[in-house]
Amino acid sequence: MTESPSTPEAAPQKDLGEGGAPAFKTAADLDANPPSYSDTSTPLARAIEAELRARERASFNDPLPRPARTRVMVVANQKGGVGKTTSTVNMAVALAQGGLRVLVVDLDPQGNASTALAAEHRRGTPSSYDVLVDGLPISEAVQHHPDIAGLSTVPATIDLAGAEIELVSVVARESRLKKALAAYDKIGTEAEDRLDYVLIDCPPSLGLLTLNALVAGVEMLIPIQAEYYALEGLGQLVETVEMVKAHLNSDLSISTILITMYDGRTNLSSGVAEEVREHFKDQVLRTSIPRSVRVSEAPSYGQSVITYDPGSPGALSYLEAAREMAVKGAGA
Ligand code: ADP
Ligand code: MG
Repeated sequence: MTESPSTPEAAPQKDLGEGGAPAFKTAADLDANPPSYSDTSTPLARAIEAELRARERASFNDPLPRPARTRVMVVANQKGGVGKTTSTVNMAVALAQGGLRVLVVDLDPQGNASTALAAEHRRGTPSSYDVLVDGLPISEAVQHHPDIAGLSTVPATIDLAGAEIELVSVVARESRLKKALAAYDKIGTEAEDRLDYVLIDCPPSLGLLTLNALVAGVEMLIPIQAEYYALEGLGQLVETVEMVKAHLNSDLSISTILITMYDGRTNLSSGVAEEVREHFKDQVLRTSIPRSVRVSEAPSYGQSVITYDPGSPGALSYLEAAREMAVKGAGA
């Protein structure tokens, strides 16, 4: 299988500055003086530029800035297959590799994030189901990643499939997760060993599980697939967010949009990306995630693409997207 031509391998024709060497040296330099490549006139050229930047920056391995308080981020989009789980997993791994403390809460009964994060999620394992339905403290469901320091997961088991219905008759059914997170002593502003990020991976629906995440979270990370119909349904999501803000959680905001499965070869992809940027402006990360088979292969090895194939365009893009998100949110 081949990667898209927007990969770094397709990049040599780009102007890298004198003598072909990159004209910039550090991440700070890059921020102060964004490199200006000669040609940004076509979607492909822009995609290549993004790839080059990703490659340059990812090589720095600078630690990422810690936010002033735990950023609780809801990864949601009621469409299935847009990259929620993939983005949750890879952003989490990238943030943890950058030296931050990250907790992933898997709220999808399919448990794909748990699989990719090597978390045990057989039936009976303490999980997000127990946290939501039975009030199990988060500390009793957390599993630390076997290989990646600072990364932990509250897994989802198949039991969660029944939770949408079971929760209906439970007291304060929409704020169960909020309560559980509030009681977890690793979240907040003070403690040195506090979590820097909590990423909540939502199922593809706007039911009670997603509602619990929206009530518990402060920010939203919405992955949007660069495909036809990408924007369809987003209106409904935004309406739901407005409803939650008005009645249940006034702190909630859509802080981050990530364009996924971007294919620089197609006008469609760039057209959708442009439309998303026009609509959501600064909320959209500059880095898009390219469509890449390596990204889709990684989970079957119980891995993120960052650990599975660290030099691949997908891995570099997620590293760059995570850096962007961390820098934007530092001091927030
Ligand atoms: P969601 O959680 O929104 O349902 P997933 O993250 O599970 O979406 O992604 C849906 C499918 O697309 C999965 O099979 C995943 O491996 C694949 N996928 C996600 N991102 C990419 C990408 N950048 N390139 C190629 N395949 C991808
Ligand atoms: Mg998913």
